[in-house]
Amino acid sequence: MKIVRFKAAGKTRYGVIEGSYVLEYAGTPFGTFRKGRKRYPIRQTVLLTPLLPGKIVGIGLNYRDHAEEVGLPVPAEPFIFLKPPSALIGPGDPIVYPPQSSRVDYEAELAVVIKKRARHVPAERAREHVLGYACLNDVTARDLQMRDGQLTQAKGFDSFCPLGPCIATDVDPGGLEIESFLNGERKQSSSTQNLIFSVEELVARISAVMTLLPGDVIATGTPAGIGPMQPGDRVEVRIAGIGSLVNPVIKL
Ligand code: MG
Repeated sequence: MKIVRFKAAGKTRYGVIEGSYVLEYAGTPFGTFRKGRKRYPIRQTVLLTPLLPGKIVGIGLNYRDHAEEVGLPVPAEPFIFLKPPSALIGPGDPIVYPPQSSRVDYEAELAVVIKKRARHVPAERAREHVLGYACLNDVTARDLQMRDGQLTQAKGFDSFCPLGPCIATDVDPGGLEIESFLNGERKQSSSTQNLIFSVEELVARISAVMTLLPGDVIATGTPAGIGPMQPGDRVEVRIAGIGSLVNPVIKL
């Protein structure tokens, strides 16, 4: 199932993609979720960020090749940080280049959406707590990250967390092809089988620190090939079995 949140005929609701249509659903995918009667051609809808998470837990340096490209050792423990939910934008929404930075990077990532409360969940049971997976762009002001020595500002600007286009519930997170494109040119290309800490391990390790609640999102880290974007660019995160998340970059 590919779950979306969408706007059509002036209303916002959840739905499920079926071919070139969005089927309306009642309730939320975290509780009762029932098929409705209406369906809309996708092109007559606006897809929104597929959920509104309470928190977004980011993971730094979770692909060996990315650790090498930034000259940092492979971590023995997952490097955990938080991205504010106010940074979220949906498919097609603009990433706004902030005046405080002169180097804003894309980072293609697999997002994990939590379905049910997770606290001290062992890796073997992690998948029971996951609703599905989405594409996420962990947009980062690289110059501010280096200057600050921490990530709150560098990864926290409004619009620095594109998420979408859907939550895919039936994919295996262990071997998904993940790519990014800048103005159509491929910049990152890897597979989630290259994750240092797997999705299951991340749920286990994070839930040993903080309770994960329904709708929380884990951004699982980015592979090698990160680089800067400029106003006027168009950035795409593509994950096989999930879809494509495209956002323009603008400067106000
Ligand atoms: Mg990242």
